[in-house]
Amino acid sequence: MCQESFIFRSPKLTRMKVPFDSRGIKDCICAQCPVQVRSACSREKEKSSKGVELPKPQDTPRLYCSSGKAACSDLDLKQMCICGACPVWHRHKLAGAKPTLHFCRDGAAR
Ligand code: SF4
Repeated sequence: MCQESFIFRSPKLTRMKVPFDSRGIKDCICAQCPVQVRSACSREKEKSSKGVELPKPQDTPRLYCSSGKAACSDLDLKQMCICGACPVWHRHKLAGAKPTLHFCRDGAAR
């Protein structure tokens, strides 16, 4: 079974507001965010997942609005979240979600 079909069949993950899919991974701007640009852990995940169409959530510093809190512990969580400039955030109307921003810190959008 491919990873994508597992995700959409999982009862827990089908309740996600934002799907964890390759389109979202491609469009997400989290990797450029001030919260994680200085994170060695995030930079390593970004490097190792480059070119992977659909990495595992814990292997990419992207799409936290779907997968929830970041696996890396060296993020600078006091910096401003740039999700408001992200195509994924607009596509899924996350201005009306909870939380609204800082999904890497506060968990997935619901
Ligand atoms: S969820 Fe927001 S704060 Fe966290 S990395 Fe993405 S854009 Fe930055």
